[in-house]
Amino acid sequence: MLECYNCTLELNGLLASQNVDAIVVSTLVNVRYYTGFTGSNGLLLVTRKGPLLLTDPRYTTQAAQEANCPAVIVKGPTLKEVAKRLKALKAKRIGVEDQRISFALHRGLAKLGELVGLGDAVEKPRWVKTPDETVKIRASVALNSQALERAMKHFKVGMFETDLAAEIDYQMRKLGAEGTAFDTIVASGAHSALPHAKPRRVKIAAGGYLLIDMGACLNGYMSDMTRTFGVGEMPRKALRIYKAVLEAHLAAIDAVRPGKLATKVHQAAVDVLKKHGLAEYFVHSTGHGLGLEIHEPPRLGGKAKTKLEEGMLVTIEPGVYVEGFGGVRIEDTVRVTGTGVEALTTTPKGWTIAG
Ligand code: ZN
Ligand code: ZN
Repeated sequence: MLECYNCTLELNGLLASQNVDAIVVSTLVNVRYYTGFTGSNGLLLVTRKGPLLLTDPRYTTQAAQEANCPAVIVKGPTLKEVAKRLKALKAKRIGVEDQRISFALHRGLAKLGELVGLGDAVEKPRWVKTPDETVKIRASVALNSQALERAMKHFKVGMFETDLAAEIDYQMRKLGAEGTAFDTIVASGAHSALPHAKPRRVKIAAGGYLLIDMGACLNGYMSDMTRTFGVGEMPRKALRIYKAVLEAHLAAIDAVRPGKLATKVHQAAVDVLKKHGLAEYFVHSTGHGLGLEIHEPPRLGGKAKTKLEEGMLVTIEPGVYVEGFGGVRIEDTVRVTGTGVEALTTTPKGWTIAG
């Protein structure tokens, strides 16, 4: 059974601070965070009587094994069971995850009482990782790096992008990953200028970039890394762009420290690219948190108001994308420490590979 990430503390605290009689957590990843239950159907109901997990008969055994709070196996509609319990407690005000709740659940719950949007209050504890989560993310990051190292042993100029992507995914599985955190990106030549390119049945040629963005899912926790290589003999412009992105990447990592506004980290990357006349080709934010989901707060973007806190894990991934020429992105995962930053990703940022 997993350690309870304190339904009692966090969610009971919310019952009081938001002045609600019940909290309904319906987002699976949040249900998992609070209860440890990993099934595909579950709802967490928190009232003054304590937390209760509701799921269906497919998960009788799994709920008993995983959940750190009492579980009720519901044969019919979950909402009916929730209604029964809320009525018994004479609950009037019901707190919900207003950013994520389904329309159907919203409509059903609205008949039972006054709904109170909890904003990001339910999710916020997830932004700062517990020691146990940090250990899991470290393992996922290490596996991801090892998978790339192994996969690149099979790299040959002229191989298909899809073949290299398949090799990467295979190595992740062989190393024990449950799966990939997202669809692996392998993009070569001018195609690398698409930040979220899909691998194609196209040969990776010498003289162009090779961009690989990959992540593993291990024990439910995601990793995320991008490396860009120059394949064989490269034009001078390609190396110039690479060096500028690397400089921006390192400057952004340097800017990470507790108490700093997330947007300042983004600005550090932008400033370097501006100096090189490349800022207009940087079209996304500098990074994001990750954990049970691949993209979590805090976002490290131009308008990010979040202050970095010790224990947050974020990616640092500036990129430059020149249409018709190619793109470079370099992405690591780092941890905000008590005094600064710790790099989790250990994969070297070498440049060329044999052509
Ligand atoms: Zn990535
Ligand atoms: Zn990322």
